[in-house]
Formats: sequence, C-alpha cells, structure tokens
Amino acid sequence: MRIGLGFDVHRLTEGDGVILGGVKISFHKKLVGHSDADALTHAVIDALLGAAALGDIGQHFPDTDPRFKGIPSIKLLKKTVEMISAGFTIRNIDAVVIAEAPKIAPHRAAIAVALSETLGIQASQVSVKGKTAEGLGAIGAGEALSAYAVALLEEIS
Ligand code: MG
Repeated sequence: MRIGLGFDVHRLTEGDGVILGGVKISFHKKLVGHSDADALTHAVIDALLGAAALGDIGQHFPDTDPRFKGIPSIKLLKKTVEMISAGFTIRNIDAVVIAEAPKIAPHRAAIAVALSETLGIQASQVSVKGKTAEGLGAIGAGEALSAYAVALLEEIS
C-alpha cells in the first residue's frame, strides 16, 4: 500500500459558480486559474501522483501550457489515472474542501460520484468533507478556497 497527500488553493473572484470535483456549484463567485481551477480535483491529482511517486500536477500539466487553458480538471484526473493504472489500483480517496462559502455538504454525494466515475472506483471509496476557516485569513474572508486530499494505492504485483 502507498499513501499520497495533495493540497491546492485558488483565489475566488466575482463569477457565476465554482467547479469542485467536476461538479458545478452555483455561487456568486468563481475560482481563478489556468484550467477550470477545480482545487479539489487538483488536490486529488497530487495525492495520486504523490502515492505513486510520479511527481506533481505542475510537472505533468504545467499552467504555462496553452493545451491546458480552461481545460476541465476532471480530464487531467483521467490522464493521471491512466498514468498510475499500470502499476496501482486505487483503494480510496479522502478529501477536505476549506471554504467559507459555498457550503460543500449539499454537494458531497454528487462530487463523490463524479470523482469515482473518473477514478474508475465506487462512490463509497471516495469521501469529501467541507470545513470553514472560522473567518480566519484569506479563506475565511472568502477570497480563496483550498483543498486537501489523501489517496491510498495498492501496488499491482
Ligand atoms: Mg490548482
């Protein structure tokens, strides 16, 4: 078994919703980034790459590459799964989104389904939780949103 940890943070600005785990959530702000800025999916990608010791998201999908401009991050996750699937099966993912708003809880099930379908595992193998920053710092002020994820991989012998 191998464990990996991923983290990501993106700024929030006025907009028409955020995409988290491939799910569009209605909100009066959007996440800023080169891709669709799906911080949760980016954290999951880094957790998977970390568990497989295959580097990080910036190395495989650089934000200077025009091919990845505006790309749905779930497509990058699919490519990541292809990269690791020769050597590993995914046992489970656990993730936390830290945001003052929007609330994650109403979207947990939909996000788990969307991520699990891309990961090729059951929704029951994916956990997503929401936390606030208790009003502290940039996240607490609603200027940013962050996500942590861990991934457990089993090496194919
Ligand atoms: Mg990112």
